[in-house]
Amino acid sequence: MSDAPTLLVMKFGGTNMGDARAIRHSASLAGRSVREGVRVVVVVSAMAGVTNQLLRLADAAQTGDIAAANDEIAAMRTRHFTAAQELGAAPDSDAVREIREMHETLRQAVYGVYLLRELTPRSRDLIVAFGERLSAPLMTLALEQSGVRAHHVTGGEAGIVTDTHFGNARPLPSAYARIKDRLSGLLNAGVTPVVAGFMGETEQGALTTLGRGGTDFSATIIGKALGATEVWAWKDVDGVMSADPRVVKDARNIEILSYGEVMELAYFGAKVLHPLAVTPLQESGIPLRVKSAADPDFPGTLVQADPHDDARHPVKAVTAIRNVSIINVTGAGVLGVPEVVASLFSAIARENITLLMVSQSSSMSNVSLAVQSVYAERTVSALRAAVSGELKVEEQPGVAVLAIVGSGMRGQKGVAAKLFGALAGDDVNILMISQGSSELNISVAVEDAQVEHATRAVHGAFALQEVASGV
Ligand code: ADP
Ligand code: ASP
Ligand code: MG
Repeated sequence: MSDAPTLLVMKFGGTNMGDARAIRHSASLAGRSVREGVRVVVVVSAMAGVTNQLLRLADAAQTGDIAAANDEIAAMRTRHFTAAQELGAAPDSDAVREIREMHETLRQAVYGVYLLRELTPRSRDLIVAFGERLSAPLMTLALEQSGVRAHHVTGGEAGIVTDTHFGNARPLPSAYARIKDRLSGLLNAGVTPVVAGFMGETEQGALTTLGRGGTDFSATIIGKALGATEVWAWKDVDGVMSADPRVVKDARNIEILSYGEVMELAYFGAKVLHPLAVTPLQESGIPLRVKSAADPDFPGTLVQADPHDDARHPVKAVTAIRNVSIINVTGAGVLGVPEVVASLFSAIARENITLLMVSQSSSMSNVSLAVQSVYAERTVSALRAAVSGELKVEEQPGVAVLAIVGSGMRGQKGVAAKLFGALAGDDVNILMISQGSSELNISVAVEDAQVEHATRAVHGAFALQEVASGV
């Protein structure tokens, strides 16, 4: 980057918000740029583990276990109060009062779920977003303690207006002007906005969430709206790595990736970024940096338009989606009728289910679809309803999809052969194969029980531990 940044959107993940110490460190990273004269917008995740806890307690309330739900809320309250206190908040401060009121509202919402024994996607969103809403005042406290003027807002208050797909909402085109309008006033007054990530609001004011990992997406939506110089996602890893570091011990940081490559990686299970996180940045070309909070001067991963390929390393990363099912639709000859295939896909589209892989045999007597196992039952019933009784629709559970990603694969021969060789050498059976026409990835379905060692074998075969950079 030649010019000094003028506006940065900084996103802090769950680990970076894990306790008072981590929050103070995160605030110091934002404060460093503020002191250099950069305008900073901070976007925060829930404290590590809180989102899962909220989902668990909502489920407990729905099934009638209000005692378990209340115990979890009490534990969460203690955690937020302890952090606030450690960040210097007095018991009668605004921050403590606000945190107390939010827990009370959460308790009431959860009690409503318990009374109705009904947890709709809309009420789940309201409950699960409390994680981010509660961590925002903690970040404000930490910033103010370090001498940075700050003010926190919810995603809706920040102007992130979305559609009504509760649990998986998308920003509406009108969001961008609204965000600019809502946040510019604070920035112009020299105040650092702290936005609760992961959530937006419908036109009618109902709270929505952007899908798991959605705080990355909040940050890039805001980055686009404000024309940020860059968006920085601070994490507990060095950057985007050649594989999940929990699975492959010698996974390495990738210096440069294109927007397209990151999207493929995230789509195929690399939990490091929300799959849609880069989409708001693509048009404007705003770069995204994934950076390690533990090592702030390490460059991390730069995500931008150009892929920066190296002919010796056409593959940059290997990733996997766990808990997948293959849905097989079979019935001799019947699938030769194009309308039948069309009705299968329409049924899936109506259910709003994401297909991970699709394959059709040339005899047209078989179509296989890979979906997340949580959607398998819905997929099977939708397909059975859509096709005639002559077709068999069956689920094969216990599958994982493993993908290799890298724009250097385009036009390169031998990449698939190497992938299949590595899997065969590791005694892994391939259940399904697909390569997108973009040639950014090749994906294979394998037994879930084999996917971790298969990932290590593929990582080794492509010598990904040796790829220091894409340059
Ligand atoms: P955050 O709250 O900061 O968004 P996440 O837990 O959502 O953190 O994402 C970071 C985690 O993603 C890492 O701790 C790592 O375990 C996991 N991960 C999976 N695949 C990758 C990858 N290819 N590169 C980096 N991290 C990965
Ligand atoms: N807290 C949310 C989640 O765990 C959003 C995020 O962390 O990005 O999915
Ligand atoms: Mg995340």
